[in-house]
Amino acid sequence: MKKVIYLQKIGDVDDIVLKKLKKNLNSFFKEFIDSVEISPDSIPLKVSEYSPSKRQYNGSLTVRRLYKYCNERKHFRTLGIIDKDIFSGEFKFIFGNAIIPKKQDLNSPGASLIQIKRLKEGFYNRPENKAQFELRVLKEAIHELGHTFCLEHCNNKCVMQFSNSLLEADEKPAKFCLSCSKKLKDLFGNLD
Ligand SMILES: [Zn+2]
Ligand SMILES: [Zn+2]
Repeated sequence: MKKVIYLQKIGDVDDIVLKKLKKNLNSFFKEFIDSVEISPDSIPLKVSEYSPSKRQYNGSLTVRRLYKYCNERKHFRTLGIIDKDIFSGEFKFIFGNAIIPKKQDLNSPGASLIQIKRLKEGFYNRPENKAQFELRVLKEAIHELGHTFCLEHCNNKCVMQFSNSLLEADEKPAKFCLSCSKKLKDLFGNLD
């Protein structure tokens, strides 16, 4: 199987965000994967995944739809990008989520999702900061893709730290700790 990470728009997403993320993920994961590609088609937003009372989309439903979509296409990994606020279960909001492979292997497809709405300073009525925004998008993307590569939350100084606020998201580094790096190397080493 060709190891491609597909970036998948859900609804309208600025192409500049995807192009920058593609470039950043390509260099970040270059030792593990063949390439990062932008899917030419956009998956539509769904009214059935929208909660009018919360004014948010249900990220759990969206990521499951995405998983089904990439499973049918036999895509290696998919990262959905949505420019809407999302929630999941009891969490008032989430930056992203992922379907973690049941078995600790990379042969079954994996899908993940990030929102970019809450990564923009404008969401908090502050002036935009392009470099900061791009770094946030990259970190959340690495984190959710990390889950699809069977990584769990990590307490080290690591991109796999759980973050429940923008401050926590900003504080975690844009890299894996030694322990998570080793797990990744082992998993990709076992991949045929
Ligand atoms: Zn996580
Ligand atoms: Zn770690």
